Amino acid sequence: MSAVIEGSLLLNKNPSNISEVVSEHKICAPFELDQMVYESQQAFEVWSKTPAPERAKCLARAAQLYADHKEHYSKILHKENGKPLDEARGEIQEVIDTLEFFAGEGRRLYGMVGNSEMPDKSIFTTREPIGPALLITAWNFPAAVPSWKAAPCLIAGNSFILKPSEHAPLSGKIFIDVLNESGLPHGVAQLAVGGADIAKNLLARDEIKIVSFTGSTTVGREIATEAARSFKKCALELGGKNSCIVMDDANLELVQEGLIWGAYGTAGQRCTSTSRLIINKSTFSKISKPFQESISKLYDIANNRPSDKYCPIITAKQLRKVDDLVKEAIAEGAELVCGGKILDDGSHQGYFYEPTILKVKPDMKIAKTEVFGPVLSVIELDEPKPEAFLEQAVAIANDINYGLSNAIYTENVNLGMKSLRRLESGLVYLNAPTIGAECGGASFFGGWKQTGNGSREGGVAALDTYTQYKTISIDYSASLQKAQISNYRND
Ligand code: NAD
Repeated sequence: MSAVIEGSLLLNKNPSNISEVVSEHKICAPFELDQMVYESQQAFEVWSKTPAPERAKCLARAAQLYADHKEHYSKILHKENGKPLDEARGEIQEVIDTLEFFAGEGRRLYGMVGNSEMPDKSIFTTREPIGPALLITAWNFPAAVPSWKAAPCLIAGNSFILKPSEHAPLSGKIFIDVLNESGLPHGVAQLAVGGADIAKNLLARDEIKIVSFTGSTTVGREIATEAARSFKKCALELGGKNSCIVMDDANLELVQEGLIWGAYGTAGQRCTSTSRLIINKSTFSKISKPFQESISKLYDIANNRPSDKYCPIITAKQLRKVDDLVKEAIAEGAELVCGGKILDDGSHQGYFYEPTILKVKPDMKIAKTEVFGPVLSVIELDEPKPEAFLEQAVAIANDINYGLSNAIYTENVNLGMKSLRRLESGLVYLNAPTIGAECGGASFFGGWKQTGNGSREGGVAALDTYTQYKTISIDYSASLQKAQISNYRND
């Protein structure tokens, strides 16, 4: 485990070296949750009435505080969830970008002005805050995902309680500390440390009006069920099983770079990780050897040492799950191309798994299940005609319960565009890997099917989770005008 609970204490351990305790946190007691919810309600009354451009100043200050200490926070993140320092720096930059972007929304938060069907009447629609929110997050982006939720939540005028993952609570704590240092009124941003029971306790309360959850599809289903009981606004960002389709005409060097990053970055522990490669057999045979050589450099097995581009699996339980899925796949008939082992000979203390390639059939369990580890399943086709290849490849990519991210590599712009339109996922990429979403206005992040319930993060669509519309009609005709009646003649 990277989180060890001892009584009311949570020990947060480094998954690269589990003898190192990165931080200790007190788990919230039920009476503290009562107090937090009360304070969140009180804070909502103040914050929701603060003009949005004023709210924005806190977000902008928080962005600056992160920028001032970027290296420090990156190093903490690197230790607590094990991701390479470069990736950790990227994640802290994402926090900065997200806070800056939503600070800008403070001067917009656009509603809509329309035309009335009647004279001397105006209609416009505003976005209004909703109430205290509960933000429940996963461990794999312990700083960025809280910021994806908190920044639109705050700019819209809501208060919130963050329940970070028990496997990486420190980056969440820092996030709340920075927000409070940036001048938020007391109680607007709070932290509740603990496991699932803490999240369930808060979720059950009627005073909480919004729940935004990032995590597994199994838990997401439970959250949605409980949220429906009290009609909470509910946003779900869940698991993925993402495909990369490579056509015969693709730039194969670019493909290999994209696969190393997409399948083995964060050791495959991203919701957007490339999990399936759909490619013609003859094309795969061209990249198989150099690709294997490249990924073997991610971990120096002879000296039992990871490179600075590789990272551990977050917990011992997840490490076993990855290994079990690979073993089951081999038993089911998958061909092990390389990897397939837990990298622990007893001399080191991290939860590392060997970068793995399997050749699989599309209906095998491993080809349908989210692995959340450094395992790429290759599905080989044998179809030389580009249109027919794409037909098959897109059908395989779409025959899955998830719908987060898919990629296609080709130099053929017509076929590339056509297949992007037909792929069933919230994110699609042309000549780029399945991971690496950006933050910003048009860059909406979220998935189809069992990856979510239609909500989006990252771009302006995130505001839909944290606002409710109010349509304001003003009649200055000084007469009773009946909509759909007064202005129509019935003869
Ligand atoms: P998880 O579902 O086990 O836990 C996520 C959070 O939910 C944690 O804070 C946990 O304490 C809490 N939790 C667990 N059980 C709960 C319950 N019954 N009720 C309420 N809260 C509960 O997920 P994880 O292992 O932390 O993260 C990995 C998963 O997250 C993967 O499936 C990954 O694809 C997904 N993920 C999705 C996105 C996205 O944006 N779509 C981003 C990152 C991770």
